[in-house]
Amino acid sequence: MSLIVQKYGGTSVGSPERIRAVAARIAGARKADHDLVVVVSAMGSATDELVGLARGVTGRERVARYHPREFDMLLTAGERVSMALLAMALREAGHEAVSFTGSQAAIITDEVHTAARITEVRADRVREEVSRGRVVIVAGFQGVSRMREITTLGRGGSDTSAVALAAALDADRCEIYTDVAGVYTADPRLVGNARVIRSLSYGEMVELAGAGASVMHPRAIEIGAKFGVEIQVLSSFDDAPDETGTTIRQASEEKMEELILTGLASMPDQAKLTLRGLAAGMGPRTDILLRLADRGVSVDMITEAFAADGTVQLDLTVGEEELAEAVEIAEGIVAEVGGQGVDVTRGLSRIALVGSGMHGRPGVYARTFQALREAGVEVHAVSSSAISVGLLVPNAERQDALRALHDAFELEKGAEAAATAAGRS
Ligand code: ADP
Ligand code: ASP
Ligand code: MG
Repeated sequence: MSLIVQKYGGTSVGSPERIRAVAARIAGARKADHDLVVVVSAMGSATDELVGLARGVTGRERVARYHPREFDMLLTAGERVSMALLAMALREAGHEAVSFTGSQAAIITDEVHTAARITEVRADRVREEVSRGRVVIVAGFQGVSRMREITTLGRGGSDTSAVALAAALDADRCEIYTDVAGVYTADPRLVGNARVIRSLSYGEMVELAGAGASVMHPRAIEIGAKFGVEIQVLSSFDDAPDETGTTIRQASEEKMEELILTGLASMPDQAKLTLRGLAAGMGPRTDILLRLADRGVSVDMITEAFAADGTVQLDLTVGEEELAEAVEIAEGIVAEVGGQGVDVTRGLSRIALVGSGMHGRPGVYARTFQALREAGVEVHAVSSSAISVGLLVPNAERQDALRALHDAFELEKGAEAAATAAGRS
């Protein structure tokens, strides 16, 4: 008998009808003789509604920063609702089921509220219930610290709960059920002809997820890679066009050679800070990065330009919700060191081209810029890593940019065609 961990996201359990549909799917897997541990997210937009309540009560946008412990207490309530309802639905359908909070399932995390990392899963209790023939439903996105505080793993973290449980239980695989048919070459809500990617390496999925492909939480993939958990992403909706979805696993050498460009991802609402006229030397630049880090502001792209008069211009990008703090810090430093000023560009999106075979391949930048020029998209900054290229474009041009790049690299045609397209220019 095999053991499968399944995870159902918010839309998949968004209503009583959806919860019953999920219970029916679980019943089907039980009939096929699988042991099951099921991780659930909060229903629909329940987590957003809880965040809204906290903002209403505190009058603050970044509630987590000021009330991290209580924010976690509040947000974990969402998953409690869906886990109990799903257990009831299963019991009504004649299946033994029991629900556990993250804490009861012994998902142990560090002490970092609102962005906790799982340090250990003591899966004995879950295992025991499974061996008694029960379906165990576990609340996603949450755990408990060694100090017995309730923690959350960061938004979208139920995927990480599921993969961590699959690793701890040595499950045969981890199935992530969502509202689209798998991982696509680009967000199917933004690019109409995006295609389901059948098979992805952990490295490519980490890169896509980190760059905004919200279909998977990046840390889930990191855990999957570390423990060799095979992850399958698929739709929980019966009318989905694709039944098998996407499999994420270690790429074989052969496969890695074939893939040039795997997919696109994007993240809106980024801002660029330009610090002009900084004194040469590492001092001012290091100070600003240290102070931003101290205040918990995370910097994404960094570029430097050296002017003829010996001064340095530093461009930094941050998420817009951290902009006010970043500007305050940047202006403080510029005033201290006698720089020329700080300019701010808001309303930008970061687009990422991801593909393990892109590195060292001539023509990728040329094709990218040509496509964007033809689409009338202005690029504000560029960065690159071994398997990705990042581009900053205006929010209003984000969708045009994604569509133009998707077409330019012929991503709708599959991996081999994309490889040819990438190498052509
Ligand atoms: P869940 O609640 O099931 O966790 P999410 O909303 O977190 O679902 O993730 C699914 C959504 O991710 C899809 O509805 C889709 O709009 C978005 N998405 C972004 N990029 C991709 C991609 N490359 N492939 C599939 N979906 C994507
Ligand atoms: N409910 C949480 C969120 O909305 C966790 C998740 O869905 O994965 O972020
Ligand atoms: Mg999600």
